[in-house]
Amino acid sequence: MISFLDLHKVNERFRAEIDARLKQILDDGWYIHGKQDAAFEAHFAAYTGAQHCIGVANGLDALNLIIKAYGFGPGDEILVPANTYIATILAISENGATPVLVEPDLATYNINPDLLEAKITPRTKAIMVVHLYGQAVPMQKVWDVAHKHHLKVIEDAAQAHGAMYQGRRTGNLGDAAGFSFYPGKNLGCLGDGGCVTTNDDALAAKIRALANYGSDRKYHHIYKGVNSRLDEFQAAALDIKLPHLDADNARRRQIAAFYRAHIKNPLITLPQTYDEAAHVWHIFAIRCPRRDELQAYLKQQGIETLIHYPTPPHQQGAYAEWKEQSYPVTELIHREELSLPISPVLTDEEAARVAAACNRFGN
Ligand SMILES: *Cc1c(COP(=O)(O)O)cnc(C)c1O
Repeated sequence: MISFLDLHKVNERFRAEIDARLKQILDDGWYIHGKQDAAFEAHFAAYTGAQHCIGVANGLDALNLIIKAYGFGPGDEILVPANTYIATILAISENGATPVLVEPDLATYNINPDLLEAKITPRTKAIMVVHLYGQAVPMQKVWDVAHKHHLKVIEDAAQAHGAMYQGRRTGNLGDAAGFSFYPGKNLGCLGDGGCVTTNDDALAAKIRALANYGSDRKYHHIYKGVNSRLDEFQAAALDIKLPHLDADNARRRQIAAFYRAHIKNPLITLPQTYDEAAHVWHIFAIRCPRRDELQAYLKQQGIETLIHYPTPPHQQGAYAEWKEQSYPVTELIHREELSLPISPVLTDEEAARVAAACNRFGN
C-alpha cells in the first residue's frame, strides 16, 4: 500500500536528534516558554523574513489570536475564501465577527482577488487569505484592494510553510500570519503546535500576552487572555526539522513535476502553478468528474488518496445559516478534488506507480 503520507517515515529521519533533545529538556526540567521555544521562534521568524514569531498551541489559535488582537468582533466582516479548511472560518466566528465568503479562482484554487471589491461594505475590516494546498495567493491585487479600503491582510499559512510570492515567503506577505504545525503539515511537530508571524511590534506584544492569560509579566493581566502556548518539546522538534524544510519542499516539487509530466488522462485535471509563486505542494490536488470512482480504483491498486475537502464550509451543519447560499466554483472543487500521495519520503518508484495507475483509470 502506498500511504497518502507516511508520518512515521517522515519523523524517523530525525529520531536520534529528537531523542537527544528530549533528554536535554528532561535534564533542564523546564517545559513551557523556555530556551527551545525562544530558539525556534527566532529561527522561524528569520526563515519567513518576518520580525516576530510567537509560538502558540495550534493553527486555529494562531488565527483566532490575530483577530482577537486586532479587536475584530460583532459587526465586523472579514473576507475569506469559500473553499478553505473550516479552521479559517471558525477563527472568525469564534471572535463574533462575520465571515464573508469569496469564491476561489479555479486556476489556483486560491481566493479570486477580482471578486474582493464587490464584497466590501463599510463593516469590512480584513481580508483573510489562505495559501491553499501550498501555493501562495497572488497577493498584488489583494494588497491593492486592502490598501485602497484600509483593510488588514491576514494570511492563513497553515498549508504553505516555505512557499513564496515574488521571492517573499508566506508569513511575511500581510499584516500577520497564522501557521499550523499539525503533524501532517510541511513543517509538522509531534503533536499540536502553531505560531503567528508579523512585522507589527505592538501586535506581536499583544498576541504574546493574549496567548499567555493576557499577561505581560507574571501575575499581571492586562487582557482577558487565553492559554495557548507552544511547549518546549514541540518547539524542539520543530527546531530540529526546520533546517530540512527547504530540502523537503524541493523533494515535493520534484514529485509534483513528475506527476505533472507523466499523468496524462483526459478525465484528470492537473494542478497549475503561476510564475510569481514558488509552490510547496502540501497537497497535490487533481480534479476528476468521476472522483469517487477514481479514488476507489486507486485504492484497489494499493494507493491511498484523500479529499480536501469533501464538504465546503457553507454546507456544513455548523453553518446551517448558509445552507441556501451557493458558491458554484467552490462546490465544483469539493465535488471533483482528489489528493494524490506526496511527501518528502515518497519514492520515485511509488510516484511512478501512482502516475501509471492514474493513467490506466477509465481506459
Ligand atoms: C491545518 C489548517 C489549519 C488549522 O491548524 P490546526 O493546527 O489543526 O489548528 C488552519 N487552516 C488551514 C488552511 C489548515 O490546513
